[in-house]
Amino acid sequence: MDVCVTTVEDDAFLLDLLNTTPVIDGVPTDLLPDRATAAEWMSAHGLTTSTKEWSALVEARSALQAVVRGEETAQVLQPFVAGVRLTPSVTPDGLDWTLEHTSGAARAVLAWDGLRIHSPGRLRPCANTECQLFLIDRSKPNTARWCSMSLCGNRMKVRRHYRRSRG
Ligand SMILES: [Zn+2]
Repeated sequence: MDVCVTTVEDDAFLLDLLNTTPVIDGVPTDLLPDRATAAEWMSAHGLTTSTKEWSALVEARSALQAVVRGEETAQVLQPFVAGVRLTPSVTPDGLDWTLEHTSGAARAVLAWDGLRIHSPGRLRPCANTECQLFLIDRSKPNTARWCSMSLCGNRMKVRRHYRRSRG
């Protein structure tokens, strides 16, 4: 059964998390390298800043990055959804469902699955192989290839033009 209970805020949270390992000036960088450094990012995203939360978050990030890149199957995400509960409550009109999760890791995995269900194929790595970022393609034709047109898109265009003009 496909259950999709996440929101665009959850999508944004997932994308922000996936994009915490950018290449800056050619150097692969981790924006969440240890709990102390990650604390600001975690607070800004509504998470507690415990060591447990941080370690689950970076493990989930690695697992999700591998899944989105097609290097792993989704089964590697299993540990992060332990304890997730969907609870119904009856309203005057019907049922209302509340999703309970206890970690940012779980939130990210749930957002990934929500995208898999309602926007299949739209979460993907940037087509620039030197870029480690990801994108969610919201365009109608689903043809976006770059994390950012102004960064990778133009860079790749310039490179192609340069190759053509030399070759
Ligand atoms: Zn990129």
